[in-house]
Amino acid sequence: MQWDAPFARWFVGGKLNASFNALDIHQKTKATKPAILWEGENEERRVLTYHDLWVQVNKFSNALKSLGVSKGDRVTIYLPMVPELIIAMHACARIGATHTVVFSGFSAKSLRDRIEDSKSKIIITADGSFRRGTVVKLKEVIDEAILGFDFVHHVVILERAKIPITMNPKDKKWNDLMMSAQENCEPEKLESTHPLYILYTSGTTGKPKGVLHGTGGYLTHLYSTFKWIFDIKDSDVYFCTADIGWVTGHSYVAYGPLLHGATQVMYEGAPDYPTPARMWEIIQRYKITTFYTTPTALRMFMKFGDGIPNSYDLSSLRLLGTVGEPINPEVWRWYFKIIGKEKCPIVDTWWQTETGGAILSPLPGLETITLKPGSATRPIPGLDVAVVDESGKEVPPETKGYLVIRNPWPGMLLTLWGDDEKYKSVYWSKYKNIYYPGDYAIKDKDGYFWLLGRADDVLKIAGHRLGTAELESGFVSHKSVAEAAVCGIPHEVKGESIIAFLVLREGFTPTESLKNEIINHIRKVIGPIATPDNLYFVSKLPKTRSGKIMRRLLKSMAKGEAIGDVSTLENEAAVNEVQAAFEELKLSLSKNLK
Ligand code: ATP
Ligand code: MG
Repeated sequence: MQWDAPFARWFVGGKLNASFNALDIHQKTKATKPAILWEGENEERRVLTYHDLWVQVNKFSNALKSLGVSKGDRVTIYLPMVPELIIAMHACARIGATHTVVFSGFSAKSLRDRIEDSKSKIIITADGSFRRGTVVKLKEVIDEAILGFDFVHHVVILERAKIPITMNPKDKKWNDLMMSAQENCEPEKLESTHPLYILYTSGTTGKPKGVLHGTGGYLTHLYSTFKWIFDIKDSDVYFCTADIGWVTGHSYVAYGPLLHGATQVMYEGAPDYPTPARMWEIIQRYKITTFYTTPTALRMFMKFGDGIPNSYDLSSLRLLGTVGEPINPEVWRWYFKIIGKEKCPIVDTWWQTETGGAILSPLPGLETITLKPGSATRPIPGLDVAVVDESGKEVPPETKGYLVIRNPWPGMLLTLWGDDEKYKSVYWSKYKNIYYPGDYAIKDKDGYFWLLGRADDVLKIAGHRLGTAELESGFVSHKSVAEAAVCGIPHEVKGESIIAFLVLREGFTPTESLKNEIINHIRKVIGPIATPDNLYFVSKLPKTRSGKIMRRLLKSMAKGEAIGDVSTLENEAAVNEVQAAFEELKLSLSKNLK
């Protein structure tokens, strides 16, 4: 490593190619092994072996070359969860183009911002995609998003939904290109530091940032963590529910499993479509051994009740994983008992788009430790992770503070695309030469880390600092509560007071007495300090498209401020519901004053 703080460069002078390491190296030993077991939302199925994938990637690499793409060019990929998404990414990697995948649920405006920022020469999309039984017209979104962008030379369209589309002069069909493409494409020998991709973050805390990842360091991080965390074996069938539009889908769907020659299931649609049993059905059908999902998905499954997963054969499972948000201990226990039948370890992996791969996680492939529900346990080997105070000094065990990483690591982002200054100010300005992730945490006396929520969202009540995760997990531990989101609003005496939004589990109805019961419960599990001033029952919480609760929205609404960039917001109805609750709150506050 060359460390020119805060820029780290790994294996400088070394050459490699990501697609070669993911595909070519398996052609002698695993050519006929399934790489992708794909299932469409409409139950269509496809199997692609390592040889099939290699052939498709070679051909599509040549197709991209025929469109004038070369080393260093950016290519935006706006595709649903179909194998062609992985093929397109590896084809870019093969010829040295930098891919930038944009989640296919984004609107034309969000997409336009990202295409403009990356100045992509080529866009790869589909005519349409399937989501909850309806067709989303992706090509129309692209046409709107690139209007007037002369730097975009071509749009490649995969016919997925088989709907009529308007072809413009720049447009090329995927199949036409593939038909005339040569079979063999020599992988470019790329510098280890060559930019593999740009990926915009989820936008949970504000404007998405264009995270730039390299090749050698990044792949090293994925190869090792995929092995240590998922303890991958040749016989495993791995299933990660993340969309490739997010970093988990990049690191642990499109790259990690392929580096290991693993077999994985890829699913196109919504996890609860057409029924809440869809995931369990998939686990049963493909005899999945390793299942990796998010707390938000688990809370949804939990809300539907135990009867659904209990009626499927989940006995093939041997390892479970979670990522994306702190997992509430109650949800962890449900996952362990109902899905894992008390025999599967749960790997709670803490990491970020910026870190490239997992940083905190149990390592069943490397160590034996006792898991604690709700803790992401300890750092992976080589990482110096700590909890510090405002001045950067490590705090004693069991004390709350800021999570930091004190040394560079292989999967670390190279920079923010085109903005070294922002890179320095966002991650390296709070503490000198220490990476600041922006999360609030605690390290217990056994050295286990507990993530308490975003540092920006911490509540300060009567001199006490409370992380959102502590409070929300307190609410979720009540039998009636499926999901909770809290935020603080200014309070004359206490500094801040707590406002809570709760979604109830199936079978519970919102009543005044339930409200009081929940308030008593939170006072008991956390303490009187956690008593919310207002508690609202809502049917949904405002979330990002990656499924995370957008607390900053609650906060701005509570303060009556503009809600800022909401391009990554999943559900506007949820916002309206929360907004209505705040209106009511303001009314009652003003009444009280009178
Ligand atoms: P933005 O940075 O644009 O606001 P984001 O932070 O949600 O979006 P990601 O990089 O997808 O974008 O998410 C990383 C964040 O997710 C972490 O900083 C952390 O807050 C949260 N997170 C991820 N995994 C875990 C986990 N296992 N436990 C607790 N929190 C987690
Ligand atoms: Mg972030």
